[in-house]
Amino acid sequence: MSAYLGIDIGSRVVKVVLVGAHGRVLARAVAPAGIDGPAIAAELTARVCAEAGVGPREVGYTVATGYGRVRFCEADAEVSEITCHARGARHLVPGARTVIDIGGQDSKVIALDEQGRVADFCMNDRCAAGTGRFLEVTAEALGLSVEGLAAEHALARQPVTISSTCTVFAESEVISHLARGTPRPEIVAGLHHAIASRLLGMAGRVGLTPVVVCTGGVAQNAGVIAALEAIGKVAITVPPDAQLAGALGAALIAAARAAERR
Ligand code: ADP
Repeated sequence: MSAYLGIDIGSRVVKVVLVGAHGRVLARAVAPAGIDGPAIAAELTARVCAEAGVGPREVGYTVATGYGRVRFCEADAEVSEITCHARGARHLVPGARTVIDIGGQDSKVIALDEQGRVADFCMNDRCAAGTGRFLEVTAEALGLSVEGLAAEHALARQPVTISSTCTVFAESEVISHLARGTPRPEIVAGLHHAIASRLLGMAGRVGLTPVVVCTGGVAQNAGVIAALEAIGKVAITVPPDAQLAGALGAALIAAARAAERR
């Protein structure tokens, strides 16, 4: 059997996808990156291969992407996150023209042309504002997990204004709101509006041509998606496996490169 591996070693989470013929997903795995993302990547690789019944010699090509890719020596090639996310998102949503990827420590907006090639992009990897980290820190101040944010947002009637996009100042604002007795859902919705405004501000030059797709771990937060749709006045598609888009793209590129080599 021919199988191809895509490994996305993110700053917070490692994702591995194994595909077979015609890009069919054979197995997938996700785990926190901890302090040694490449070691976790090796563990997840063994896990997906065992689950799919694929021996190490049956893996035809491996592509690594993500923040930790340079420290992972077992791949045949490294490919940028922009290219892999674009490829994965376009596979998950065939008409996609814009990809908003919101990861743990960076975020990017990618414009695709009609053929699905990367036409333009912008990226924030300097500051936690507009990333999953912003929500991790502020959720903790509220006594919530990031998984619980969307349900809390759904209870909000009037989001408060969080004026700081800086994570440290936003955390202080959250604490002040709690001290004043502001209901938690209103604060959560305010945080989601703040992160959405920041992302849409960043998207400015690249634009938001439909179909707009959101990927990355934060795409699983329906509150962030609702805020992006409300402020950006655009419908956003969140595919199943949104967090795996980069690893899936890497696996599809691996399959294409193996075909070129034959
Ligand atoms: P990276 O590739 O940078 O490591 P990911 O795209 O995997 O990042 O996203 C990780 C981020 O997604 C983290 O900040 C985490 O808090 C957030 N996240 C993960 N799962 C969920 C979830 N179910 N709901 C909301 N946020 C989530």
